Amino acid sequence: MIQNEDFQDELGNDHIATSAQTPMRSDAFAISDEEKIELIKKDVENILNTLGLDLTDDSLKGTPNRVAKMFVKEIFGGLNPNKKPSSSTFDNKYKYGEMLVEKNIVVYSTCEHHLLPIVGRAHVAYISNGTVVGLSKMNRIVDYYAKRPQVQERLNIQIVQELQKVLGTEDVACVIDAKHLCVNSRGIRDIESSTVTAEFGGKFKEDKVRREFLDYIKLDTQF
Ligand SMILES: [Zn+2]
Repeated sequence: MIQNEDFQDELGNDHIATSAQTPMRSDAFAISDEEKIELIKKDVENILNTLGLDLTDDSLKGTPNRVAKMFVKEIFGGLNPNKKPSSSTFDNKYKYGEMLVEKNIVVYSTCEHHLLPIVGRAHVAYISNGTVVGLSKMNRIVDYYAKRPQVQERLNIQIVQELQKVLGTEDVACVIDAKHLCVNSRGIRDIESSTVTAEFGGKFKEDKVRREFLDYIKLDTQF
């Protein structure tokens, strides 16, 4: 495998994921969030200084600290396993054995190749085997994995695998339709294009079940 910088650049531009796990070092949480914010603040200062900006200007003064806090506490907050939504489940009292679809879940994530936003919608479905989760749990799981430097395929797989674990069933599916600002606003600058990824587990691999799920996503919900 060629490991030069050009190759890495191209790999990033093609947005290829190398694994279903977010690549992290074992010492990722050896220092506290506060220590991370201090270090990143200095790094952001350095970037802005290198670009020739005057950091004594009132408008820019607070930027390094703001960006550092935003990285650690907000847009990359989902790297911290302590922030994973708790996995409380319920018995399926109603014996509802049909498909449950939670659609149009807003996705705000960040492309790990360019650190630019990924914005879109996730549609998640499962067929209960006796265990159900609160509806908002699916939104929280999507949000947790979205708050990492991501590749859309990996985000999609991580959402499905987590729900499979929580629900104790393979019968979980997720479709994500999202715009990548690194494609829309720079590089090829294709403002119209969006990226669709899908992961179908268990019964969702069957044509009929998958079709039903995709038909529900198409439903135009009016309220
Ligand atoms: Zn990108």
